[in-house]
Amino acid sequence: DLQLSSRVQAIKPSPTLAVTNKAAELRAAGQDIIGLGAGEPDFDTPDHIKQAAIEAINSGQTKYTAVDGTPALKKAIIAKFKRDNGLEYEANQILVSSGGKQSFFNLALATLNPGDEAIIPAPYWVSYPDMVKVAEGKPVIIETSVDTRFKITPEQLENAITERTRLFVINSPSNPSGMAYSLEEMQAIGEVLKKHPDIMIATDDMYEPILWTGKPFANIVNACPELYDRTFVLNGVSKAYSMTGWRIGYAAGPAKIIGAMKKIQSQSTSNPCSISQAAATAALDGDQACVGEMVKAFKERHDWLVDALNKLPGVECPHGDGTFYVFPSFQGAIDATEGVSTDVEFAEKLLTDAGVALVPGSAFGTPGHMRLSFATSMENLEKAIERLQKALG
Ligand code: PLP
Repeated sequence: DLQLSSRVQAIKPSPTLAVTNKAAELRAAGQDIIGLGAGEPDFDTPDHIKQAAIEAINSGQTKYTAVDGTPALKKAIIAKFKRDNGLEYEANQILVSSGGKQSFFNLALATLNPGDEAIIPAPYWVSYPDMVKVAEGKPVIIETSVDTRFKITPEQLENAITERTRLFVINSPSNPSGMAYSLEEMQAIGEVLKKHPDIMIATDDMYEPILWTGKPFANIVNACPELYDRTFVLNGVSKAYSMTGWRIGYAAGPAKIIGAMKKIQSQSTSNPCSISQAAATAALDGDQACVGEMVKAFKERHDWLVDALNKLPGVECPHGDGTFYVFPSFQGAIDATEGVSTDVEFAEKLLTDAGVALVPGSAFGTPGHMRLSFATSMENLEKAIERLQKALG
């Protein structure tokens, strides 16, 4: 019998990718499916970014680069942090990886020992708990509800901390809730962390520019500069520049741990794709107008979709602060439907009966809700709502 490691048996495949795959299967079988499961912008990568990649190919930038990223890209990242976030980093504090996913994976492997606890607020990006488990750490989940707009309170954080806590993960604006912490809320969370100097902090800023609170973006280090020495800022070009396929993410933080993460990467994937690095450099250094245009479209769709969802029976949808997701409660609709008792069953029913693909909230640790992605055309959103109207009666 072929033996599997306990490590791989502790994790599951990404449930968001699973929905996308199931929808693709049904589509291939001839069914008309509207996918609202996608975790990526529907826009093409902006042209000036593609051109930079083409130039990189033509000029022979097709070989290994430094493991932690090309000097040009690291310089662009350092400039970005200064310009957008008011944060100063040296080159040895930056690691470029093959997507934001690898950035977090490297961090978990570099910081967690077996049994070490990582605090993760729910609803969470599906991959955090499983990556913590691969590192043989223990995810400690803090549950939230719509009452606090899916944000944790300082008391909840204090209660979740034990002497085994090594890592605290915060993602704002959040996938899947679309909510962002205000500067004041971030400061209150930071006050708790200041009392626990052994805890490292990961702020996942992947959706940074996709924000419409009217207030400037602020992460935990902006709110609480005292935490700089133990905070890892994770970001990337995937969502902001519609570059999910290019696979470029980056991490900034204390040189000691960044160096350890680089060592792990040097023994696993080495440098991220050289051509993608040239494209990411152009994205960060270039005109940022393309980002604003995409955010404007996301906001318009968001406003329309939230109104439409709130008119459906058994559905309640709060306004989000950003991202391209909404996270309404479908509990009323689930309760009113015979033969269905969970959000997972309900999502399956909607997929097969109504031809609409959504991701059930349980995938993100918050059952009773659904994540709808509006990274799709208005036409698709309108059709999806029509179908949901019919299905919910
Ligand atoms: N962080 C969050 C919150 C995300 O939603 C995602 C993608 O879904 C990532 C990180 C990783 O992005 P990528 O690995 O595609 O750069």
